[in-house]
Amino acid sequence: MSSIQLSERVQRVKPSATIAVSTLAREMRAAGRDVLSLSAGEPDFDTPRHVRAAAAAAMEAGDTRYTTADGTPALKRAICNKFSRDNGLQFEPSQISVGAGAKQVLFNTSAALLNPGDEAIILAPYWVSYPDIVKLCDGTPVIVSAGIESGYKATPEQVESAITERTRMLFFNTPGNPTGVSYTRPELEALGEVLSARERIVVVSDDIYEHIYWGGAPWLTPAQLWTGMRDRIVTVNGVSKAYAMTGWRIGYAGANVDLVNSMRKLCSQTTANPSSISQAAAAAALEGDQSMLAAMRDAFKQRYEYAYEAVNALPGMRCAPAQGAFYVFADAREAIQDQGLGNDTELAEWILSEAEVALVPGAAFGASGHIRFSFACGMDDLREAMRRLKRLLS
Ligand code: PMP
Ligand code: GLU
Repeated sequence: MSSIQLSERVQRVKPSATIAVSTLAREMRAAGRDVLSLSAGEPDFDTPRHVRAAAAAAMEAGDTRYTTADGTPALKRAICNKFSRDNGLQFEPSQISVGAGAKQVLFNTSAALLNPGDEAIILAPYWVSYPDIVKLCDGTPVIVSAGIESGYKATPEQVESAITERTRMLFFNTPGNPTGVSYTRPELEALGEVLSARERIVVVSDDIYEHIYWGGAPWLTPAQLWTGMRDRIVTVNGVSKAYAMTGWRIGYAGANVDLVNSMRKLCSQTTANPSSISQAAAAAALEGDQSMLAAMRDAFKQRYEYAYEAVNALPGMRCAPAQGAFYVFADAREAIQDQGLGNDTELAEWILSEAEVALVPGAAFGASGHIRFSFACGMDDLREAMRRLKRLLS
């Protein structure tokens, strides 16, 4: 037994399940097992060449020192231009906060807003880290769940009835992880009506999958539509998914100046600043040639079409159509029952040991009985994984 007494704070959270499963898959591969990892949401593409070149040039030019805690002026300008170009949103550099990934920006936002006991509404199925970020910041996650029958989308009535006097935040993510589901304009407008009337609530829109979207209608972010509450919307994005830059760790938000100032204070006392080299690379990604966005989106869409059909054809699995991101989220309740297993965690463990395919159980996303397939891997791995699963489940 360890003699170290750990804080109540750290004991209240669990490790990220997506990271845990992908680490396990990596370790099994290193140990010689032929594991196919459909676990992490990480594009298999290389970071574009001109972005890597910008990083090398920044290093050579001596951009190797501390920067402003929440991002260089050059990167903040590039982010303002991006918001204007892609989303029609006008921000000043003073309204931009840069962090080591969208994950840190989401954490800083929550840390700057939540007091002990404050509630944050999270729409399930949700990205694994939202509830634990809220808990780390002393808040209470309030989960609003939607199943496959409602297309995994929360209704305005559900959101309305989850709101209490303690509600301070709502996390929104479209296209969403783990479902890939995207809210339509009328759905967004209806949600906006409920939230606009609630002046204490800050909406965090996590737009990280903005560019991995193939829905018919133009993609929209809440700040474009919910203009009456613009000052209470934190629009979060990053370069990880769109530009295949997960390891560079750059995410950002456009938000109210007071909130941004508070987040800078947190950066200054924690990370100081995200890597100066990564910031130069992110600025190059946002300002340079954008044609690779469509090329990567098309590749993901092609994989989606294959994966959606293949997963739906697996015995006991059923998934709803997705309009973006790089996941298929399957309702696996029948498969769990047919195989005599207890739950989705047991299903994922069984699939990993018998078929050597790494998937993330739905419970991690607040949706027990489900399982997540990431198709951010290459097409060959994807086809082979489906062959193995078909054999195992049939
Ligand atoms: N939000 C969602 C929905 C995600 O899937 C991810 C992926 N890890 C993130 C935020 C964080 O991205 P990053 O920290 O790499 O910018
Ligand atoms: N967002 C990705 C995923 O859900 C990467 C891992 C993580 O940070 O959660 O798999």
